[in-house]
Amino acid sequence: MIEFKNVSKDYPSGTHALHNINLKINNGDFVFIVGSSGAGKSTFLKLIMAEEKLTKGEIVVDGIRMSKLKRRKVPFLRRKMGIVFQDFRLIEKMTVYDNVAFAMRCVGASNKTIKTRVPYILKLVGLGSKIKSKPNQLSGGEQQRVSLARALVNNPEIIIADEPTGNVDPEMSHEIIDLLSEINKQGTTIIIVTHEHDLVKEFGKRVIEIHKGKIIHDTKLERKSAED
Ligand code: ADP
Ligand code: ADP
Repeated sequence: MIEFKNVSKDYPSGTHALHNINLKINNGDFVFIVGSSGAGKSTFLKLIMAEEKLTKGEIVVDGIRMSKLKRRKVPFLRRKMGIVFQDFRLIEKMTVYDNVAFAMRCVGASNKTIKTRVPYILKLVGLGSKIKSKPNQLSGGEQQRVSLARALVNNPEIIIADEPTGNVDPEMSHEIIDLLSEINKQGTTIIIVTHEHDLVKEFGKRVIEIHKGKIIHDTKLERKSAED
């Protein structure tokens, strides 16, 4: 579970990026984070990933208190997470296979495990025939699916995706979210930042809207109060 308790984040520049955020994301939840540019969405994700330190309050990720997290323990936290970036962040010199295998080597997986797991995951994302390609031989949607495969390959508890559909066409956007829905059905928590309203509407998942550093809508709370 991820819990934010009265969380604020100020950058050294003086920008108040997040102000008094309170929320819970349970294991197995599927959440869209929406809001205009500069609202604080990336900051929200960066706090969960321990890429930035919070200024006030507490965030607890699977029992880990982020305010107390030592830098050397960050890799331990990150192993719970698969991260998907808008700009893919693939290694251009490596083949599709090696990009995904690399993520497994980083966590000390055996060669035997890598050899069965990587082709399996690449088939799952529909890239079985692209195993030997280099990223620059792939379309945007294909590159994003490599980055998704890399995020999935170590079986993370949480997938965090910052604008995963920002650089792909609408049809592919739909397929990427579909794929994440399937993964969510196996119990993985999914957190997606996006500004694609149509996509968010269509999938009917929990939506948290951030505006100027504050949560202004959370469909989960709204549904609950509608039931009361
Ligand atoms: P979003 O992802 O919703 O576009 P961000 O979380 O990136 O929003 O940014 C929230 C606010 O914090 C913005 O005003 C932005 O300019 C500021 N900000 C983001 N990152 C930094 C940083 N590293 N240093 C200073 N200010 C930052
Ligand atoms: P899109 O128009 O969807 O961005 P591309 O035209 O980039 O797609 O690619 C279409 C197909 O051709 C993809 O399956 C991609 O893997 C393949 N492809 C593109 N460039 C190369 C290349 N230089 N070598 C081999 N295959 C390529």
